[in-house]
Amino acid sequence: MQTPETHGSCQCGAVRFHLKAGETKANVCHCRMCQRAAGNAFASLLMCDDAMLTWYGTPSVFASSSIAHRGFCGRCGTPMFYRQHGGPTEIMSGCLPPDFPFQPVRNDGIESRHAWVNRIADLPDSPTREELTRATLHQAPERS
Ligand SMILES: [Zn+2]
Ligand SMILES: [Zn+2]
Repeated sequence: MQTPETHGSCQCGAVRFHLKAGETKANVCHCRMCQRAAGNAFASLLMCDDAMLTWYGTPSVFASSSIAHRGFCGRCGTPMFYRQHGGPTEIMSGCLPPDFPFQPVRNDGIESRHAWVNRIADLPDSPTREELTRATLHQAPERS
């Protein structure tokens, strides 16, 4: 799909990127590699051409397999991307601003998908705890 230009960041702001407007594709991956790399139940990823990305700050990388590496902020630890050698970059969607039109079209790695993931929408909703809204945040501000 066509998505607009945007800026993204790790949690602390030491590693940021600009993404040009253009053709992107979003998916969710439940494979064990993505679960551990994200420290979460799944990774939600935006695939884009490398030429669409300009990085500010240098992401740390881990060669997670012989065919790919994963980028993260070496300061705050935020997982930021997956990149297969010679392939496009897949940005972890949490690094995108909240107004970015992220529209995943496929579930990958379903052999290890946690059963509870299918029930997320059925769980009771609750806003951010009040003490957190009063805390001093060490998170880089959103920028779009
Ligand atoms: Zn950071
Ligand atoms: Zn995966």
